[in-house]
Amino acid sequence: MPDLIVVGGGLAGSEAAWQAAQRGLKVRLYEMRPRKMTPAHTTGYLAELVCSNSLGTTLIDRAGGLLKEELRRMGSLLLPLAEASAVPAGSALAVDRNVFAQKVTEALESHPNIEVVREEVTDIPQGLSIIASGPLTSNALSQAIARLTGQEHLYFFDAIAPIVVADSINMDICFRGARYGRSATAEGDYINCPMDKAQYEAFVDALVRAERIELHDFERFALQQGVRAGKSKFFEGCLPIEVMAQRGKDALRFGPLRPTGLIDPRTGREPYAVVQLRQDNLAGTLYNMVGFQTNLKFPEQRRVFRMIPGLEQAEFARYGQMHRNTFIFSPALLDPTLQFRTRPDLFFAGQITGVEGYVGNIATGLLAGWNAARLARGQEPLVLPRETMLGALLYYITHASEHDFQPMKANFGLLPPLPRRIRDKRARGRAYAERALQALEAFLAEVRAQGDGPVPPPA
Ligand SMILES: Cc1cc2nc3c(=O)[nH]c(=O)nc-3n(C[C@H](O)[C@H](O)[C@H](O)COP(=O)(O)OP(=O)(O)OC[C@H]3O[C@@H](n4cnc5c(N)ncnc54)[C@H](O)[C@@H]3O)c2cc1C
Repeated sequence: MPDLIVVGGGLAGSEAAWQAAQRGLKVRLYEMRPRKMTPAHTTGYLAELVCSNSLGTTLIDRAGGLLKEELRRMGSLLLPLAEASAVPAGSALAVDRNVFAQKVTEALESHPNIEVVREEVTDIPQGLSIIASGPLTSNALSQAIARLTGQEHLYFFDAIAPIVVADSINMDICFRGARYGRSATAEGDYINCPMDKAQYEAFVDALVRAERIELHDFERFALQQGVRAGKSKFFEGCLPIEVMAQRGKDALRFGPLRPTGLIDPRTGREPYAVVQLRQDNLAGTLYNMVGFQTNLKFPEQRRVFRMIPGLEQAEFARYGQMHRNTFIFSPALLDPTLQFRTRPDLFFAGQITGVEGYVGNIATGLLAGWNAARLARGQEPLVLPRETMLGALLYYITHASEHDFQPMKANFGLLPPLPRRIRDKRARGRAYAERALQALEAFLAEVRAQGDGPVPPPA
């Protein structure tokens, strides 16, 4: 019998299996491809990248670059293999996807402690296990996960509204408050962006003309059937904002942009329309755009949403998107160690936890594999410091607010605020990164003192 079962040989599962195997566990890694394919994968390789071949920036003063540096210091397998498969891409890490996936496949298949089994898993395994079956988890396993989590805690589609960094909102134009003054906080729960008639009409016009991301056939099919896309979000309840706007020029003004009960203190009147932003993280550094789930291309979101009064200089911590995506309601189900709360020998890793993006998914795999090995040895699983990018991401997915929980990518807005405000964006990024790496080094020193620590990458 293996010591650990890993379900899914994608980005998270491959990293997790290797981490545990390097720490001496006998790992059985189940991957259903090539016998059973997902709608997006095309090969039988482990760690196949399904879309872009870019793993994002390498600049350490950006969230994605910091996360890579943390992965390197924690002894990732996939990061050095990606670097060894790199193709020229400026300051981004882009790879030859086949070379990368071949290298990962070879590293795992030749590992003496890893057995790769090409089979679909249809039930939650017993004993020490990691579920890393990804955004396109097979139907049978999805049903088993739903039985474990409860139907209401498993979603099949994301409907992500953009998130704006609070500091970048112009409060000389926007005002705080809730409809009819019903705020729970003294300062007012929402940030409201007021629009006059001309601003509203120009915005709606730009919105319906903006370029959209095309949905895949398998996504259209899911939508026709109706799918769960988040807590109390069934798909019909979360139409893309641009589709809603197409229904008529007043559709938004009577929908998510309705001004009713919102008085602009500068005019003493209800504006013609209002875009509302709701606080998204405990620190109050991030705000999400209420009702703005969208399929517009990212540069179009930046262009069109910056037409909203007060958001002219908005920095987007996350752009909106909608696609097929199996993920669990981690805030109610997981600990920041990635353990399932009611079954501590069961871990979840990868996109299924609500972490978005290739590198974030590799990172959750690293921690799940490492923590599974610690649990097997009778040690406490690790909780990373919140000042690190990975620690902050894990804190977010396990503590996010009920109504807005949607997959989240690494971004600096998730980190605890710096002790003093730094206006310059790059200098702020450097300060976040320095603090994160110091926190990580101090944490790793403590872990090493317990006789544990990162495993070295392959020679
Ligand atoms: C269409 C699409 C495009 C995306 N594009 C990007 C992008 O360009 N950039 C980006 O950063 N992120 C992208 N993502 C998001 C995400 O980063 C990737 O999906 C990433 O691969 C997720 O890593 P993972 O390890 O969680 O899942 P995966 O890498 O998908 O791995 C999961 C593995 O589990 C296997 N599996 C599923 N069910 C079973 C089962 N029952 N038994 C055994 N094996 C099973 C699958 O075959 C797969 O190999 C995209 C997601 C989707 C769906």
